[in-house]
Amino acid sequence: MGDVKQAHSPSRDRISRTVPLLIVGAGFALSVVIALIGAVALYQMKQDAIENARQASENLSLTLERAIARNLQTYELSMQSVIDGMRDPEIMSLPPALRHLVLFDRSINAEDLGSMLATDAKGNLILDSGSTPPRSVNVGDRDYFLAHKQNPSLGVFVSRPFQPRLTPDAPSIGISRRINNPDGSFGGVVVGTLRLNFFRRLFEGVELGAGGTLALVRSDGVIIMQRPFGAEVIGRDISSSPIYEKWKGLDQGTRVGTGAIDSVERMYSFRKVGDYPLNVIVGRSMDNILLAWRKRTIGFLALAAGVDVIIVALSLLLARQWKQRVAFEHHLQRMVGTDGLTGLGSRRALEDRADMEWRRALRHGTPLSILMIDVDEFKAYNDRYGHLVGDDALAAVARCINSAIRRPGDVAARYGGEEFSVLLPNTSASGAREVAEAIGGAINRLQLPHEASARRFLTVSIGTATMTTPSDFRDLRGLIQAADAALYDAKAQGRNRVASHAIASVGG
Ligand code: GH3
Ligand code: MG
Ligand code: MG
Repeated sequence: MGDVKQAHSPSRDRISRTVPLLIVGAGFALSVVIALIGAVALYQMKQDAIENARQASENLSLTLERAIARNLQTYELSMQSVIDGMRDPEIMSLPPALRHLVLFDRSINAEDLGSMLATDAKGNLILDSGSTPPRSVNVGDRDYFLAHKQNPSLGVFVSRPFQPRLTPDAPSIGISRRINNPDGSFGGVVVGTLRLNFFRRLFEGVELGAGGTLALVRSDGVIIMQRPFGAEVIGRDISSSPIYEKWKGLDQGTRVGTGAIDSVERMYSFRKVGDYPLNVIVGRSMDNILLAWRKRTIGFLALAAGVDVIIVALSLLLARQWKQRVAFEHHLQRMVGTDGLTGLGSRRALEDRADMEWRRALRHGTPLSILMIDVDEFKAYNDRYGHLVGDDALAAVARCINSAIRRPGDVAARYGGEEFSVLLPNTSASGAREVAEAIGGAINRLQLPHEASARRFLTVSIGTATMTTPSDFRDLRGLIQAADAALYDAKAQGRNRVASHAIASVGG
């Protein structure tokens, strides 16, 4: 044989066994990684959706707050000018019709503004934007009147929603201020009514998405207006709802919770209206906020599941094909009679050749030699260095054997385990011994450390046997057994040596 085939190395064999597992493992790992990346991306998308909704809600609450505050401020200015006018004796001495024109500017006639009234300290109307002379009405029992009377520093008071006595179909709130006498004592109130329709229309113009809600709530929790509108909700007290409680004392805030009225989960954004005892609340349903995200999640899950299935299926297929390929390679090796680990011939191949050479030798009357080679203390070597290193050592031994045989007809084979055999046609006993010594010497020169051995290096023992004349052995088996026996002798004599079978001891 020529040079050693390098097609098969021990690590290659090992790889053959582990590659399918690696492929399938990598497939699964990739699926898991895709799923993880997807989960992280989806989580971030959800956070983004929530954050965007939070910003949108806060912006909307700000816009509504500005719109409401601006209107209330305008209204308040009108009230203030009425108060100022009442303090001016010149104005108060004008004829009533003219005084009316001076005191109540045109803004008060706007659509949603009701009437503006001023009372004396007892609650009797002394000025009435709706009529001259004022209607004879007493408001001394109204909450705003009592509130201002009791508290000089109340500032602006916003009443609960009520049905005005004159226009019962237009629910309103009263916005009032106290009139102080020059000495600071209670002189009455100025109260303007504002129709709730104003807020209703303001709220209805807003794009909220399904399940959204808007509310204008008095600081004490009384609902002044709400969208979706329901007459029964107006005037309801939500001060004890968990979300509203959390906002006590704050100017603004956003939190997720269930609605006090309809128990829908929403993101609520709350904001105090200017300096007024009023808050606007913007609520967007979480279902609506996460709608797009949910759709994308479903799409992504379907896609990821599809991709994962494909990856796993492909990896299984690949692993199967690899296994089939390896099996086929092994099959080919068996067919050509090559040992996968060392690249030497197989025992089968050697025995076939030996049979042929045996008969040829008998025909031609030429000698035939056989070497049996066994690695010394190889079990200990494996135990000490591991099976993989042991495999490498066997491959190295095989290379030494291969390098020692030169003739074209010589055949080296892995006989099994750590045993090798060499068939040397037309080779005398001394020639066989020479080859055996060359093999042993080559292995000694390798100096593969073998700490578990007394010789400290990896060595082999070799037995040789030669058929010189047909009568030497009964058959080929006899020749092989003789080489085996010689190998046993070499072991018994201390290993790392060559022992030759002596014809005389066996007899023909
Ligand atoms: P001795 O000097 O008497 O030959 O001792 P030994 O330990 O070599 O003898 P034994 O026959 O008890 O042990 C042979 C060891 O060779 C056992 C087995 O684990 C090892 N072996 C056989 N085939 C292979 C192989 O393909 N690779 C490896 N790494 N070890 C092998
Ligand atoms: Mg052995
Ligand atoms: Mg051995």
